[in-house]
Amino acid sequence: TSFGFKQVNEEEKARMVGDVFTNVASNYDLMNDLMSAGLHRLWKDRLVSMLNPFPGMKHLDVAGGTGDVAFRILENINRVKQRGLRRVFEDTLDAETQIYVCDINPNMLNVGKRRALEKGFGEDGSLIWVEGNAETLSFQNDSMDGYTIAFGIRNVTHIENVLSEAHRVLKPGGRFLCLELSHVDIPIFKELYDYYSFSVIPSMGNLVAGDRESYQYLVESIRRFPSQEKFASMMAEAGFQKVEYENLVGGVVAIHSGLKI
Ligand code: SAM
Repeated sequence: TSFGFKQVNEEEKARMVGDVFTNVASNYDLMNDLMSAGLHRLWKDRLVSMLNPFPGMKHLDVAGGTGDVAFRILENINRVKQRGLRRVFEDTLDAETQIYVCDINPNMLNVGKRRALEKGFGEDGSLIWVEGNAETLSFQNDSMDGYTIAFGIRNVTHIENVLSEAHRVLKPGGRFLCLELSHVDIPIFKELYDYYSFSVIPSMGNLVAGDRESYQYLVESIRRFPSQEKFASMMAEAGFQKVEYENLVGGVVAIHSGLKI
């Protein structure tokens, strides 16, 4: 195999590729932390607390490459188990929890798998990594207790397809939750946020990741994403009921929730 300057064996290649993804992953985390001032961690915590994970649940986290949401779900379930909420979860406490992490990008999945190993998550087989497209899921109808997608739906080609697939794979009674960068509609804060998005973020991307364009694209894709109300109505069109949303930081992000009944 050639890396342009010398021949390397398979082992060396694996190490070099690994190094490349270590860089991508560390940049990815650093940029998330910088851009959101660490808030994305709290937003993901909030998403998972709204899910109310339970032992024995079968859950699908889509666009979940790096495992951020899946690990939180497992942590939450472990806490429930440690507290020994026997009475509440009598039927499911010992059942096999299955968290499926689906992502279209195998590199992101590899980052997640490596992190899971480092953190000791999923050693009991509770984490299942699946390469796949949110628009055409490989899972069966009525098979999941929960579905989450965090910072993933904004970049898909057809949001409608993602929503109808989410609805299809959920069991009746299953909850859909979507965490996404959304729209700020508060005077003055909106102007400040616009300045931050269009000036600060691309410069930060340039400085930290050496990549202004990707971060400019990121900001533009946020602006193109449907408003909170519009997204809620798209969810209803896909068949979800009890559709509601919660704005965090004045709409910088929103969590939409819906039930399949
Ligand atoms: N959920 C993680 C988080 O919150 O940190 C990762 C979010 S990352 C910004 C977006 C992810 O969506 C990437 O891992 C990307 O590969 C994935 N993705 C983009 N299009 C997708 C699609 N059509 N189906 C599944 N995953 C997709």
